Amino acid sequence: MSIAANNPNLKSWVEVPANSDFPIQNLPFGIFKTNQLKPRVGVRIGNFVLDLKALFVLGYLENLPFEGSDFDCNYLNCLMSKGKKATRELRNRISKLLDENQQDLQKNLHHLEQLLISIDQVEMCMPVQIGDYTDFYSSREHATNVGMMFRDPANALLPNWLWIPVGYHGRASSVILSGEAIHRPKGQIKPDPSADPIFAPCRNLDFELETAFITFDGKPLGDSISTEEAEDFIFGMVLFNDWSARDIQTWEYVPLGPFLAKNFASSISAWIVTLDALEPFKVATPAQEPEVLSYLKYEGLKSYDINLEVAILPENNVETVISRSNFKYMYWNMAQQLAHHTVNGCNVRCGDLMGSGTISGPTEDSYGSMLELAWKGTKPLKMNDGSERKFIQDNDTVIMRGFSSKDGVRIGFGEVSSKVLPAK
Ligand code: MN
Repeated sequence: MSIAANNPNLKSWVEVPANSDFPIQNLPFGIFKTNQLKPRVGVRIGNFVLDLKALFVLGYLENLPFEGSDFDCNYLNCLMSKGKKATRELRNRISKLLDENQQDLQKNLHHLEQLLISIDQVEMCMPVQIGDYTDFYSSREHATNVGMMFRDPANALLPNWLWIPVGYHGRASSVILSGEAIHRPKGQIKPDPSADPIFAPCRNLDFELETAFITFDGKPLGDSISTEEAEDFIFGMVLFNDWSARDIQTWEYVPLGPFLAKNFASSISAWIVTLDALEPFKVATPAQEPEVLSYLKYEGLKSYDINLEVAILPENNVETVISRSNFKYMYWNMAQQLAHHTVNGCNVRCGDLMGSGTISGPTEDSYGSMLELAWKGTKPLKMNDGSERKFIQDNDTVIMRGFSSKDGVRIGFGEVSSKVLPAK
């Protein structure tokens, strides 16, 4: 597939710093506000936000299937409800307007003053009103590590894992935007295995390095989305920190799985990078053995080469990168996740969020959680400030970053960053 806006030779007349996550080939969507402007749709280019409401009012978005109200909206849901073809045309139009060879917008200084806003003057808002949130468990390395720690090292993967893209239904109400701090959760923990549980602040607070995809409207209840159709139902991706309270989880998760260990917060990055923008970075999914059931089979490249990293920033501002991983390691791809999610007739809706599951790579420095990086607390991580971490401490900020890079084009996600405050 060839998407005009992805041409690596395109250059914008808007200055884009070298190594920016947001060149003209990216054009991610978000919701922003300023001191003067109420929340509305914006597209990121370099260190600027393009105001799509103003772009529409000034007539630059004519002959596209959108109305002014689609851009003058607290969330991207209105825009996303128009579907894949419409949002693809919109991104292609914006790409043309920002192309250095196009004069229309570039030469209209009066319009530019209203349309381009410096990133330091905007406050980002939650981009999507999330209806339902599902979290998968699709990294073989992560599932194996957890199985080795908590069950039987010889049979680390449970028997269903190679057959089913395992997942569970999470909680949408506590999905928060990057920049919002969280409080250390409290709950039932059982520090002494031979004693009764106690009620206390979580002691083993962890992050999960994930990405998530956001859906368009799916099919009616009772219908299924095939792996071949899946990409038509995915708008884009964000970075996703799926906060986890490991000690609460250990005690509560049998028999129905995660509950209060997971639902206190999950953080997402502010800019939704479209699946279209990621198209050039497609790679093969790791080989799957045993052969999957027919509804999980797929053709072509369905995984994406996205470099990921996690850093801890304590209050002294001495940052340490503690993990470098890649989305391409995932055993199950997004098309298989969506096909599996809907194979029983479950409907997905515009603005649903699907977490990838913790993205662990094959090496010890590429694991996607503190649980694995410090191996259940037995191998504390050395920080650049001389301190150690087994899990996340109060006043630590956890920062995740991600980008794809090829042919001199870097498509990035910015970051998802959240500070942990002491328990309330
Ligand atoms: Mn998770």
